Amino acid sequence: MGGGIAGLWTLARLRAMGYRCLLLEQLALGAGQTIASQGIIHGGVKYALGSGGATDASKAIAQMPGVWRACLEGHGEVDLRKARVLSEHQYLWTAPGLSGMLGGLGATLAMRADCRGVDGVRRPTVLRGAPRSVSVYEVDEPVLDARSVVEAFAKEHGAWCVRPRGIKRLGCSHRADGTVESVWVHGPGDTGEGAVFPKAVVCVAGEGNAVLRSIAGNGGRGALPDKPQVRPLHMVMVRGAPGPMFAHCVGASTLPRLTITSAPDERGSGGWVWYVGGAIAEPESGAIERDEAAQISATLRVMHEVLGWVDVRGCELATCRWNRAEGVPSVQTRVARPEGPTISRAEGGNVMYAWPTKLAFAPLLAERVSEQLSSMGVTPSGAGGVEAPSVFEPAPIAPRPWEGRMVVSKDGFPTIQEVTWNSARSATLD
Ligand SMILES: Cc1cc2nc3c(=O)[nH]c(=O)nc-3n(C[C@H](O)[C@H](O)[C@H](O)COP(=O)(O)OP(=O)(O)OC[C@H]3O[C@@H](n4cnc5c(N)ncnc54)[C@H](O)[C@@H]3O)c2cc1C
Repeated sequence: MGGGIAGLWTLARLRAMGYRCLLLEQLALGAGQTIASQGIIHGGVKYALGSGGATDASKAIAQMPGVWRACLEGHGEVDLRKARVLSEHQYLWTAPGLSGMLGGLGATLAMRADCRGVDGVRRPTVLRGAPRSVSVYEVDEPVLDARSVVEAFAKEHGAWCVRPRGIKRLGCSHRADGTVESVWVHGPGDTGEGAVFPKAVVCVAGEGNAVLRSIAGNGGRGALPDKPQVRPLHMVMVRGAPGPMFAHCVGASTLPRLTITSAPDERGSGGWVWYVGGAIAEPESGAIERDEAAQISATLRVMHEVLGWVDVRGCELATCRWNRAEGVPSVQTRVARPEGPTISRAEGGNVMYAWPTKLAFAPLLAERVSEQLSSMGVTPSGAGGVEAPSVFEPAPIAPRPWEGRMVVSKDGFPTIQEVTWNSARSATLD
């Protein structure tokens, strides 16, 4: 249940193993964090920033770019040849005037095999006009068009990805031992027909796992760990941006000041859209309390400081809010965030709640889900899909954040909300 990257990768892996599966989505494929993500297939450099060396998180994630690249080239466990690689590399640039303070960072980056300094024409165009004090590094982390990844999965497995028709909602019935017996849809005037009878249910609905927990329960007699955590972000979108940009701006803190990814603005200006995250979008910077106008002004101020040679006055800006949803770490770590994918399942239960923690970790999550199924004694039952009852319809694909947002309308139907753009010239920069 849930059609983000975790649900899609798990569906693909399990189908390849011979399991009969159906993916139940509520709104549209990728409608949660997946298409809202920046599409960076992290290899760990971001985690090494400021720490002066490899952490457990950076070691766990180091394999991921290789796993994804194999899939993008057509010899991995899923076929992502149709997904679009927007950039083969992610870049780092140092905030102007900070080079003296960043000596330790330079040493950390120089020791990594996946990272090297770049000068002159080897720099991305937008960074070529930077003052001499700015260093630029190229990192072996591809950046993907997240929607095209979802499209690639839908092309292969779309027939098994459905959502309830109209304003119907998902529900579950349970056996006496608490395990889920059936998943069904209901709506006005329905009596609960149109059920599927799964041996196991994998809840990968991101933030929506909290709602699924109230529907599917523990799925067994045992207890589940604490509630998952949700960490909000206030992202900024810049339309009409001067060119492609895939880079973290590193300053004196452990978090990049800005992380900018970009995509061709196919439905709008015809130029580039920058999608801006990093510290400016995080709660610690006050981003969540800022309204849209204040968040735009704050971002333009930071851009002026760290990208002062770039003119964005002719651009239009808008913001969007997303929540990262994560499980609780299985072992107590220094940081209160999980360092990799998390799965929780009650003892004897047939329901799993799972979070990849990062887009990049989806392959690892799918592998762990398949291991759990084996340990539960749920084995592949042969080729073929599960026929979806007629109360379901094919799940569409969500738009990119700058193209609109999937929401539920007042009368209960999934619909796309337009983005309202603001001129950069109207922003207050004092
Ligand atoms: C702004 C932002 C930028 C990010 N950038 C990166 C990045 O660059 N690199 C990286 O590795 N990670 C990144 N992440 C993290 C990454 O996006 C997430 O870890 C990952 O997408 C989570 O995938 P998921 O499938 O678990 O959840 P989601 O993508 O949230 O998918 C959940 C799905 O479940 C559906 N759903 C919800 N409720 C129900 C229900 N009741 N029944 C059925 N379906 C339901 C939703 O509609 C949605 O389609 C970013 C996250 C955010 C928010």
